[in-house]
Parts: sequence; structure tokens; C-alpha cells
Amino acid sequence: MRFSLLEFVRQGLSGHVGWPEQWRKAEPARSYDTVVVGGGGHGLATAYYLARRHGIRRVAVLEKGPIGLGNTGRNTTICRSNYLRPESIALYDHALRLWETLSADLGYNVMFSPRGVLMLAHTRHEAEVLERHVHADRLAGVDNEWLSPREAKAFCPPLEIGSLRFPVLGAALQRRGGTARHDAVAWAYARAASALGVDICEGCEVTGIRVAAGRLVGLETSKGPIATETAALVAAGHSSVLAAMAGIALPIVSYPLQALVSEPLKPCFPCVAMSGTIHAYVSQSDKGELVIGAGTDRYPSYGQKGSPPVIQDALEAISELFPIFRRVRLLRQWAGIVDVTPDRSPILGESPIRGLWLNCGWGTGGFKATPGSGHLMAWSLAHGKPHPILAPFGLERFATGRLVDEAAAAAVEH
Ligand SMILES: Cc1cc2nc3c(=O)[nH]c(=O)nc-3n(C[C@H](O)[C@H](O)[C@H](O)COP(=O)(O)OP(=O)(O)OC[C@H]3O[C@@H](n4cnc5c(N)ncnc54)[C@H](O)[C@@H]3O)c2cc1C
Repeated sequence: MRFSLLEFVRQGLSGHVGWPEQWRKAEPARSYDTVVVGGGGHGLATAYYLARRHGIRRVAVLEKGPIGLGNTGRNTTICRSNYLRPESIALYDHALRLWETLSADLGYNVMFSPRGVLMLAHTRHEAEVLERHVHADRLAGVDNEWLSPREAKAFCPPLEIGSLRFPVLGAALQRRGGTARHDAVAWAYARAASALGVDICEGCEVTGIRVAAGRLVGLETSKGPIATETAALVAAGHSSVLAAMAGIALPIVSYPLQALVSEPLKPCFPCVAMSGTIHAYVSQSDKGELVIGAGTDRYPSYGQKGSPPVIQDALEAISELFPIFRRVRLLRQWAGIVDVTPDRSPILGESPIRGLWLNCGWGTGGFKATPGSGHLMAWSLAHGKPHPILAPFGLERFATGRLVDEAAAAAVEH
């Protein structure tokens, strides 16, 4: 069913009880051409583009819980492409361009809102790093501009530029950056993929990976074995656990990353503001809540809770940078598990096992890449070789030393 004003009115007249299920609840078949493990945004997008762009429709997405409740449904939804290295800029800007037309492409409002992402510099060193980003992005044809403290204040009026602990020395602004509605992204891809025949199997956990003579032959799942010669592991937060099932040790450490929302306020915050120094970032959702993110916990863990001191640090700094929020009450706090690589760039490409592909290591900043990652991973699976934009992100870079280092340059990668 296509969404339209006419359909909305028609359903409204009958109390909105006639809307069909948005995607088919599928049970896994015994074999598939391609299996995607992980029903987050990246996995669902991969399956959608496989079916839509490459005509591969014997595809299953296996998700151990309900779709979209991993990091996709827990993140603070910042989308931008103003990275430092040419490889990263190409990857993230490919995604940003897809975001711009995604609602129309999928026939579903993903609420992409390019309201501008402001990255604040509080030290001379940070200003130099962010200015370097601005130049690198502009050389690559991607928008990013340097604002003086006064210009930053004019763009984001609640910002206090004269704070004693965190004075604002300037800011990098990517006007095309912004936010999108995370749940809607998962639902939109699931709906569109399902309509093309993809099986979305919820409650189906992958428990083993079968390999023969260095090739993938199938997967063990909580709903029985599935034969396939091509599979992609797209299970952020648990990538190392899954890869270990195939005997692959990934250079990944998993940490909790926390976020929280405030009580709803009238529209008062016009953009996304981020500070690498204090590991905090804030935007306002369409419901009016302030959406606030903090840094990762200091220690690895799989507990989706996060520790209170991290939140306290972030909130103290945010109250100093945006004094009007000091008395705002908070509604909810949560955490997701992010899989972090040594160079803070994702791992994308075929694993040492033929037919088994990896899409992981997005760390704290993979939501923004969702459409691009799915699009390029689908191309790679369909052609049996990495798409040229993905090629620099293969696992082998940790042996060759050709790292795509975004660590120092992007302290907060959201
Ligand atoms: C608090 C927080 C804030 C963030 N903020 C931002 C931000 O502002 N901008 C940004 O770009 N990124 C952000 N991120 C990072 C971003 O959320 C992730 O990089 C991205 O959502 C990863 O998407 P995914 O589809 O790969 O993973 P997920 O959405 O986590 O999906 C992976 C799925 O795999 C499933 N799975 C795991 N193991 C198995 C198994 N054995 N069998 C079957 N299924 C399995 C999980 O249940 C899960 O649903 C944030 C993350 C967090 C936690």
C-alpha cells in the first residue's frame, strides 16, 4: 500500500484500523541466495538494495530480536559527511546524498532534517583540527565552513560562547548535515524490502557459521540451519561475537555509549551542536525533546546501561555551553553497544572466509552511513567484490597498515 493523503483520509474515516502490516513476518526458509545477519538499519538497507537494485530476491534478514532495536533505535541520529580522509568523505557523502531523497525513494517519511551540524572548537588545537577538516572537505567538493564565535552564536542562539571552561573559539558548520527519525529508517527499509520479497525473520538468532574448505556453506540459527553461500554479518555491537563463530578475530572493542532525552520543550534549538572536547552533542527532536548524547564508557562491556559519571560529565558541560537548559528535566536515558576499531573507521568487505562479508566497526557514528552502507554493501555482495568506495575499508588494512585514521580528528564521531 502506498502512503498518500487520500489513503490517510480513507483510513481515518474508519478509525485507522485498516492499515496492513508494514512488513511480512517471515519464517526462515531452508536456503537463500544471500543472508543478512542483523536487522538494524544497515542490514535492512543492504537487503532492500539487493532486491531493488540487483534483482536478488531470495534474501533473508535474520534478526535475533525485533528489527531496529539495536543501535539503530538507540542512537542520536546525527547525519553528516564532514570527515577528514578522502576515503571517509567519499563513503559518508555517498550516504548523505542518499538521505536527501530517501523518503521519496522508499515512499516513507524518514524525517530527514538537514538543519546544519555545528562542531565546536574549545581549544586552539581543536580549532586547527576542525579548520583542517573544512579544507579537506572543500577540496573533496563537500560543504563545510568555518564560523567565528559570533557567527556560531548567530547560527545557534542558545550557545554560550564565553564559557570559562569551554570557550567557543570557532565552529565548523556543515549545513547539509542534520538528523533523521531512526525508527522510521528501519521500518521504511523493512517495508520496502519485504514488498520486494525479502524475508525479514525476527526472533531468529544466528548461533553458528558453517564453513567448508574456506568457504561459507550455511548458518546455524535458533530456527534451524540455513544453507547459503553468501552472507553479510551486519550486527553492530556483537560483530566480534558473530565473527568468532567463524574463527575470525576482529580488531574491535565494544563499549556502551549513552544518550538521553529531556522533557519536551517548545522549538528552541535550531541545529545539531557537537563538542569533541566534552564528548557531548545535542539537538531537538520533532516532539520537542532535547536529544543529548555522551561519550563511550571508559571500559568495554556488553551491558546496555552505561555508567552515571559519563552522563554527569556531559550534562555539566552542556549546562555550561547552553545555560538555558540548566533547569530542564530529563525523561529517559539508555545505552547501546558500539564496536570500535583502532582507526575509528568501519570494516567493510569480504572476510578471510569466501562468501562471508563483514559490515561492522562503525563505532559511535554509523547511523549517518545507513543508506550508503546498505547501497554499497549490496553492490559488493551482488558483484562478489568490494565496491570501489568500500575497498579502502577492508579487514586487511590492519595487516597492511593502510589505516583510514579518523580517531584523532573525530573525537566524537556522531
Ligand atoms: C547512544 C548512541 C548514539 C549514537 N549516535 C549516533 C549518531 O548521532 N549518529 C551516527 O551516525 N551514529 C550514531 N550511533 C551509532 C549508530 O547507532 C550505529 O553505528 C548504527 O546504528 C549501526 O547500525 P546497524 O544496523 O549496523 O546496527 P544495529 O542497529 O545495532 O543492528 C544490529 C542488529 O544485529 C542484531 N544481532 C546481533 N547479534 C545477532 C545474532 N547473533 N543473530 C541475529 N541478529 C543479531 C541485533 O539484535 C541488532 O538488531 C550511536 C550509537 C549509540 C549507541
